[in-house]
Amino acid sequence: MQCQTVLPDTECTFWKKAGCIAEGGSCQVVVEECQGCERIAKGSIGDVCTSFPSPKAKWAAGLCNFATHKKVDLKSEDVRVNPLKAAKRAAAGR
Ligand code: SF4
Repeated sequence: MQCQTVLPDTECTFWKKAGCIAEGGSCQVVVEECQGCERIAKGSIGDVCTSFPSPKAKWAAGLCNFATHKKVDLKSEDVRVNPLKAAKRAAAGR
């Protein structure tokens, strides 16, 4: 449904018939780590995240998995792929 408070007329999965079901009944403003992320939008309370109502909680356990500006730095030599398993996975369409 569409948000009626922080981001009016924006589709949001957290807005239900009874209103916003996010913790505290509203989105929270973004945190410092979010700066540069493409999911930031201007809301009535300031900059908010369009993907998650509580940016602070998203960063509490480390890198936000929705962030567009920061990614886990995986070095290719650290990722060992078993070619046989990869081929089976590809054949199974996974
Ligand atoms: S997706 Fe993550 S990093 Fe981006 S604005 Fe939302 S909470 Fe912040």
